[in-house]
Amino acid sequence: MAPVQLLNWRHGWHFGPPAPCVLCGITTPLRSDAKEPVHKVCAELWIAAHPGEMRFVSNAPKGGATTDHG
Ligand SMILES: [Zn+2]
Repeated sequence: MAPVQLLNWRHGWHFGPPAPCVLCGITTPLRSDAKEPVHKVCAELWIAAHPGEMRFVSNAPKGGATTDHG
């Protein structure tokens, strides 16, 4: 199994009103780039199961910094 790619979904526009996750059906405030309600972990698992598909994408870190201290 391919390693799971961790997504960077920190921007405010990745959040919205709670809605059922398109993958697991449990309510989530998170939104994908396509504005689908989906948990970040669900999207990460989906990416691992669908290599090469671009349904869920990670945002580039702001400012191009390579370190992330949270
Ligand atoms: Zn989910």
